[in-house]
This record gives sequence, structure tokens and C-alpha cells, in this order.
Amino acid sequence: MDFTINQATQEKLDTINEFLHEEVYPLEKLFLSHQWDELFPALEQCRKLIKKLGLWAPNMPVETGGTFTNLMDLALIGEVLGQSPLGHFIFGCQAPDAGNSELLHLFGTDAQKEKWLKPLVAGEIRSCFAMTEPHTAGSNPTLLDSSAELKDGMWHINGRKWFTTAAEGADFTIVMVVTDSDAQKHQRASMIIVPTATEGFEIIRNISVMGATGKGYFSHAEIEFNDCKVPQNYILGQVGTGFALAQERLGPGRIQHCMRWLGIGERCINISKQFLNQRKISSSQVLAQQPLMQAQIAESLAELAAARLMVLQTAWSIEQNGFQKSKNMVSLIKFHTANVVQRVVDRSLQSLGGLGMTDDTVISFFYREERAARIYDGADEVHKIVAAKQFLKS
Ligand SMILES: Cc1cc2nc3c(=O)[nH]c(=O)nc-3n(C[C@H](O)[C@H](O)[C@H](O)COP(=O)(O)OP(=O)(O)OC[C@H]3O[C@@H](n4cnc5c(N)ncnc54)[C@H](O)[C@@H]3O)c2cc1C
Repeated sequence: MDFTINQATQEKLDTINEFLHEEVYPLEKLFLSHQWDELFPALEQCRKLIKKLGLWAPNMPVETGGTFTNLMDLALIGEVLGQSPLGHFIFGCQAPDAGNSELLHLFGTDAQKEKWLKPLVAGEIRSCFAMTEPHTAGSNPTLLDSSAELKDGMWHINGRKWFTTAAEGADFTIVMVVTDSDAQKHQRASMIIVPTATEGFEIIRNISVMGATGKGYFSHAEIEFNDCKVPQNYILGQVGTGFALAQERLGPGRIQHCMRWLGIGERCINISKQFLNQRKISSSQVLAQQPLMQAQIAESLAELAAARLMVLQTAWSIEQNGFQKSKNMVSLIKFHTANVVQRVVDRSLQSLGGLGMTDDTVISFFYREERAARIYDGADEVHKIVAAKQFLKS
């Protein structure tokens, strides 16, 4: 395994880092104080600049309008972008649009690609992904019971979903529903594209998550489908392939989540570093000279470095051997990195004292928002079970 970063990639990473410092970090004040009316136009301006710089949609192939090169490069870009909660959105590679674009690219018909993939990759529209339900366990999605029935060439969709991230303002959702309740459990469900303007699609509320309801892209909705009708050909892939498609969507996407979390950890430890180096704790010493603080920093650095190696090795393995053969490693990095970043964010917050609790730095946002890293895309326990079972039977 070669860890050399080639010159072209390094230059790209440097440009992105510079852009974050100059254009993106200054916008975080608006974000952290929920000044959405000022924030959204500023984000659009940044997106235009990124397109001009030829850095747009690094997750999508060039023929779809993106600038993808390879998974390792994408992982490294994701790490840099993760340093700001606004990074991925500004570069057009944000969840859940990234996963939906990849699904449409792999499984969409030509007509679906023209109608939804093209404008989605171009950043002209947004989307969301509705799988989890409030009343069934998301950890075992074979239990989901929202349904779609085919009558006279139309899917009639009924059911309730929640934690549909970024539903407010999205143009369409990809919904996972039971299309054949009598089929074998992994063939019961399908994915269907539903334009959000369709009658019967309703956002019930933006869910308050640890005190914040967010807005637009930065929100999580509870939604209802009430005899919501879409044409038969809005199905994605074949009838009954919902679970297979979900694996395709979530699998490699976990590399992106992990690298983004590492970026978050690195940003937090750097904010902590600045504070520790200037905070006087006595007439002759700053906090950075305190051994207890040094130990905390060392633990965070070691944990980040080890997790980073695991994630990059997994990305490399996916490139060499494919996702199926790397599945176990993906489960290991998902829960391990989520826990590492939680500890690093927590230590960084602690090092800032009262300032850490305020929204004057981005650390409190990461502390609140990224607690969910141990829950979404498979809770810790689920990934531990998958990895351990695989090891025990091998
Ligand atoms: C911020 C955020 C954003 C999200 N975005 C989306 C989205 O865009 N679209 C979408 O469809 N969903 C989304 N989700 C939902 C997410 O995928 C689910 O919350 C997750 O799959 C867990 O399902 P659940 O909440 O129903 O928990 P449950 O399945 O009810 O599990 C509850 C807890 O039980 C434990 N557990 C589960 N299974 C086992 C087991 N077998 N053994 C031992 N313990 C177990 C875990 O600790 C788990 O946290 C999001 C969630 C969050 C928090």
C-alpha cells in the first residue's frame, strides 16, 4: 500500500483548504446563529466559485457533471471538507444528495437520469432519502411497513417516515416501501422516486434535534405519504431490489462519512490548540504547558491517526477488491471512527472550558450534531454484530 499523495491531488487539497479558510469559515457565524436568510445566498455564491474552480461534485463521474477521479482522492477531499459543517454542501457532494446521485447513476433509466440526476449533480435541485420510520426499528429495515401498491399504472404510496434529512426544499425523495409483502424478507421492498410536489406527500414537521430544528438543507423531517400517486416507471431499479440498492447506497458512502468525521476531529483539535497556546492559567504558564492537557491532545492525535489509517486502508481495499470483499472493514471503520470523533470533539470542547459550550466556536455544533454518527447509517451495535459474526464464522 502506497500512502504517497500525488502532486495534482495535493495541490487540489491545498486549494480546497485555502478556500475553506478564506470563504467558508467566515460563513459559519451565520450558520451557528441560524441566520438562514443571509446564509443560503452566501452558500450559493460559494458554490458558483467552486464550479468555476473545477472542483464541483468530486464524488460524481465527469460524464454526469462531476469531477471524480478515484476513491482515495475522494476520501482525502472528504476529510478536508469535513472540517466545516458547510464544506460538503458548498462542493456539491453532500449527503443525502450524494448517495441519491450515485443510485440514479448506477440504477436509473435514461429518462430518470435526464429528469433527476442531471439537475441534481448540477446542484440545481435537492433531494432526500426516506427509509426510516418512527414506528419500526430502522436497525432492521426488513420490518418497515410503508407500502406502495400498483393500480392502473400508478404506485399508490402510504406510510410515515422520519429523519428524512433535508426534506424541506427538496424536489424529490427516494422512498423505500414494501411492494410485495408476501415476498422473501429481502425482496419485499423497492425504492421509488417521488417528487415532493406530488399530492399526498406532506412534511409533518422538522424534527427538533437536541434543541435545533434547522432549516432547508440543514434539517431532518417527519413526512407522510397519504395515497401519494406516482407513475409506475418512477421505480428505481427492479421491483423488490430495495435492499440490494440500499447496500449500494450506504456501503461506499460510509468511507465519506468516516473521512468527514476525521476532518471534524482535526478541526476541533486545531481550535483547541489555538486556545491552549494562548490561554494563561497562571502568571507564567499557558494551558498548553499543562501535562494533563498535553495528554488529552496526544490521545486525540493517536486516535485520529489510527482511525485515519483504518479508513484509508478500507478505501484502498474497496478499490482493489470491491465493496463486497471489504464489507467487514467498512463495518469496523463505521463504528470505530464515529466513537473516535465523539471522544476527540468532547476532549476539545472540555479544553475550551465555558467557551466550548458556546456557539462562538463550531465545536458545540459538532458535539451536538455528530452524536448521531453512532446511530445513522447503522448504529454501533449493528456494525459490531456484523463484523463479529463474520469473524467468528470465518
Ligand atoms: C441525524 C440523523 C439523520 C438521519 N438521516 C436519515 C435519512 O436521511 N433517511 C433515513 O431514512 N434515515 C435517516 N436517519 C435514521 C437512521 O438511519 C436510524 O435512526 C438508524 O438506522 C437507527 O434506527 P432507529 O432510530 O429506528 O433505532 P432502532 O432500530 O429502534 O434501534 C435503537 C437502538 O438499539 C440499538 N440496537 C439496534 N439494533 C440492535 C441489535 N440488533 N442488538 C443490540 N442493540 C441494537 C442501537 O443502539 C440503536 O441505536 C437519520 C438519523 C439521524 C439521527
